[in-house]
Amino acid sequence: MDRLEPRLEYYLRRAREINELKMKRWMSHPGYRVGIMGGTFDPIHYGHLVAADTVRHEFNMNSVIFVPAGHPPHKNAYRITAAEHRYNMAVLATESNPCFWVSRVEVDRPGPSYTVDTMRYFRRELGNRYELYFITGADALLEIFNWKDISELMQLCYFIAVTRPGYDLLQLREQAAHSRELLDRVRVLEVPALSISSTDIRWRFSQQKPIRYLLPEKVEEYINCYKLYSLPH
Ligand code: ATP
Ligand code: MG
Repeated sequence: MDRLEPRLEYYLRRAREINELKMKRWMSHPGYRVGIMGGTFDPIHYGHLVAADTVRHEFNMNSVIFVPAGHPPHKNAYRITAAEHRYNMAVLATESNPCFWVSRVEVDRPGPSYTVDTMRYFRRELGNRYELYFITGADALLEIFNWKDISELMQLCYFIAVTRPGYDLLQLREQAAHSRELLDRVRVLEVPALSISSTDIRWRFSQQKPIRYLLPEKVEEYINCYKLYSLPH
């Protein structure tokens, strides 16, 4: 990686240290319900942050862990930004929130990133006393029957499907209608309608359109510094 501008480099180093501290504090007091927000986060934006915070509040969680996918198995259509960049952006975006921290579990694990492996990992770390909630957009959850080892995954965690503009929850209910097991495991939560997506941000950046106010300032600075999305994705 090229060198960052010194001020941003300093800020990133500090944000990574704070993230480590938040992780250590979480390990000693995980809270009964643990929220895990997976995604490509290419880049992380306010849609992700608002969804995670709404879930945290509504489900009485003391923290939400962001898990950037190392090698997303489903996203081969465009060139995905290096995992380390996506991790750094997530760390910068969550720095100011003591309830959010970013896990490297998928970034450091070789091979495709499957949710089931990540949940096995957190289950192993925590033991059986805690409830794990995998937070996902309702759009992503519609694909759930294609996920690896779905029956094991359903034993490991609950799912919180957050609604996102343009996605009809009825579709999810219909699709899951024949699976009592899945319906029992899914909670649905409406979050303020933010029609922000990473795809749109990447496109805007490549067209020299503003991306300000769609994502945290430090993340925008990071993207600018590395010109991450200069080419159309
Ligand atoms: P892309 O456009 O590249 O697919 P994305 O904006 O959907 O990016 P992801 O990293 O794919 O971001 O999403 C991670 C998780 O966050 C997914 O479960 C997705 O459904 C959810 N999500 C993404 N954007 C929003 C939003 N604006 N509001 C609520 N949930 C969102
Ligand atoms: Mg997506």
